[in-house]
Amino acid sequence: MHAEVVSVGTEIMLGEITDTNAAFIAGALPQFGIDLLYVSQVGDNPGRMREVIGRAWKRSDYTFITGGLGPTEDDITREILAEVLGETLEVDAEQEQILRARMTRPGYSMPERNIKQAMLIPSARALANPRGTAPGWWVERGGKVAVLMPGPPAEMNRMWAQEVASELERRADSILVSRTLKTTGLGESTVDEMLSPLLKNSNPSVGIYHRADGVHARITAKAPTREQAWTLIRPLEVEARRILGPYVWGQDDESLSASVGGMLRDQRLTLALMESATGGALGSAITDIDGASDYFHGSLVTYATQAKIANGVPAEVPTVHGVISRETAEAMAKAAREHLRADLGLGITGIAGGMEVEGQPPGTMHIALYDGEEFVYSHSRYYQGREAAKRRAVLSALTLLRNYLMQRAGAELG
Ligand code: ATP
Repeated sequence: MHAEVVSVGTEIMLGEITDTNAAFIAGALPQFGIDLLYVSQVGDNPGRMREVIGRAWKRSDYTFITGGLGPTEDDITREILAEVLGETLEVDAEQEQILRARMTRPGYSMPERNIKQAMLIPSARALANPRGTAPGWWVERGGKVAVLMPGPPAEMNRMWAQEVASELERRADSILVSRTLKTTGLGESTVDEMLSPLLKNSNPSVGIYHRADGVHARITAKAPTREQAWTLIRPLEVEARRILGPYVWGQDDESLSASVGGMLRDQRLTLALMESATGGALGSAITDIDGASDYFHGSLVTYATQAKIANGVPAEVPTVHGVISRETAEAMAKAAREHLRADLGLGITGIAGGMEVEGQPPGTMHIALYDGEEFVYSHSRYYQGREAAKRRAVLSALTLLRNYLMQRAGAELG
């Protein structure tokens, strides 16, 4: 089965938005055995949309279209698809009722131009969109399928998960399932070597990938059903976990901050931070996780040396050792722990970008953790621009925390 994605919107053509919808759909199709052959992007222009959507319908088994389902005059995706198929748009009574119920509030009635969002063609059935007003369309004719979905990613992603994926799964001849094991502390070639006995398999297959948060091992199986695919994956997963041991910090969509958060919660420990170079990014990553207040006390963002001193770093430490130093990071960790009354304090000082400071190049980071008795310290140098340096420092800090928590829990890290 061949698919094409069409992303509609002039904002895409102007570079104002990134076409994340196409990337999302591209990532979601392989599991259904559908090969994506084309991705097209087109502005809100009737002639060009007719050409692109007409071509997609003609050459692909599945056409996934996002954007242009809004109520305004330039939202014409429904009209164009109707034209391409030679079908007539009509207001669907049930959709009209849903739309009016959704849009009518005391003192506000639905603008009549919204009625077009309740329109269908004979080959289409509506796909519910509880996060917005525009329903999607599932269109089926002559063995081909076109799916219309709203442009806003939150609406599109939900519609995909709730309405589209199950339909694709039902039709799929085979299902592709994968389990990703995320590791830290090992190089790509080391993971490759460790898992070499498993790499010869073709179904399930094992792939090794270097990512920003460590090396990932992905086990992928193809089978007629999801359950059968999992049956193939499980023994390999058990074996891979046995080989990689404590280096595995998470799986699939899990983030390092979720993994560290879970360990802090399990070990009943609380954490406080003092951040300089990362400007609060570590606190932000930690609070991306629901329930972080169980273990996270807060972050003091002390960018200036004066701010560090005002929050408990002894003035002589940066004076004697420099602000960008192990000693300052340790003093920050200690100050954060005391100031915010947590079990663990973590300090980060470094140079996110710009010029060399105290003889150290941009990207230098000193990270220290203090538990009231001992310090743990890491030092890194990574520079591919300011944003990347900050992101990398956040990952390094989370890795330091994880290794500490693993060791505290008694696991051997080799
Ligand atoms: P609405 O009903 O909100 O008008 P729509 O289906 O008409 O939705 P558009 O008007 O095309 O969608 O886009 C609305 C917003 O959705 C855009 O401003 C953008 O933020 C986001 N969006 C649209 N298309 C994409 C895309 N391909 N990738 C990522 N975001 C997108």
